Amino acid sequence: MAPGGSACKEVVESDHTVINYDIKAESNTALTKTSFGLGGKQGIYSNNGVHELLECPVCTNLMYPPIHQCPNGHTLCSNCKNRVHNCCPTCRFDLGNIRCLALEKVAESLELPCKYQSLGCHDIFPYYGKLKHEQHCRFRPYNCPYAGSECSVTGDIPTLVAHLKDDHQVDMHDGCTFNHRYVKSDPNEVENATWMLTVFNCFGRQFCLHFEAFQLGMALVYMAFLRFMGDDDEAKKFSYSLEVGAHGRRLIWQGIPRSIRDSHRKVRDSQDGLIIQRNMALYFSGGDRTELKLRITGRIWKEE
Ligand SMILES: [Zn+2]
Ligand SMILES: [Zn+2]
Ligand SMILES: [Zn+2]
Ligand SMILES: [Zn+2]
Repeated sequence: MAPGGSACKEVVESDHTVINYDIKAESNTALTKTSFGLGGKQGIYSNNGVHELLECPVCTNLMYPPIHQCPNGHTLCSNCKNRVHNCCPTCRFDLGNIRCLALEKVAESLELPCKYQSLGCHDIFPYYGKLKHEQHCRFRPYNCPYAGSECSVTGDIPTLVAHLKDDHQVDMHDGCTFNHRYVKSDPNEVENATWMLTVFNCFGRQFCLHFEAFQLGMALVYMAFLRFMGDDDEAKKFSYSLEVGAHGRRLIWQGIPRSIRDSHRKVRDSQDGLIIQRNMALYFSGGDRTELKLRITGRIWKEE
């Protein structure tokens, strides 16, 4: 081992970091080209060079405190630090436990646009407030509401409506009342295949009606519930009712649609919908109990 030698070599590398700082200064010229030019703090939040310094060299995510550095000055985010077994990924030196307070302070002075800027969010945030905002930004894309598949499509509501229609062949209905029949020839199977999704267009908005069988504790149950294609604060402006029955017996559910921000599974597991015990479902189906034939009627209305 020649620690002196390595150290020397590393000094050269940290010079490289210094060069980065110079580049940062130059990139001020490029600022004007970016769309961040709002407000008077141009020199601060529009500085792309600093922005780049805050990108973790390993995972390329922006770094948040604690930001770490190796004895040679290579920075690393705390997630990556936990993964690299105390070995700097850039120079292979022992990482130790050195915080990069200077960079943390620089970050504090930055203001950055929300990452959903292109989707319509025009807010600018202090560096450390940005992440938190983005988790709740109302412009963040929605996940595809189609349940029972691992669909990774995300987007705004019009995109997802088109996607449901084109890629999942979901039934689309206009109107605020519905009358739906669910038929399953072998009701003893609780496969995921037992669920269905229908989309309703009413009040100029879209609602997803889910129907499915699942195991609730020891019992097989059927469940129907409505989700709203939009944010929670808007979902709360609507109510809906579902009704199923036969032979003079009837189950009625009245509820508030859940935003599709809540996953299908989360809504199901919270049992926020019409739950029909299997025995009851078969009773409502009539016949010899070998076929599930449920007629579910419902209505959506707007609360004033
Ligand atoms: Zn990282
Ligand atoms: Zn290093
Ligand atoms: Zn935002
Ligand atoms: Zn999908």
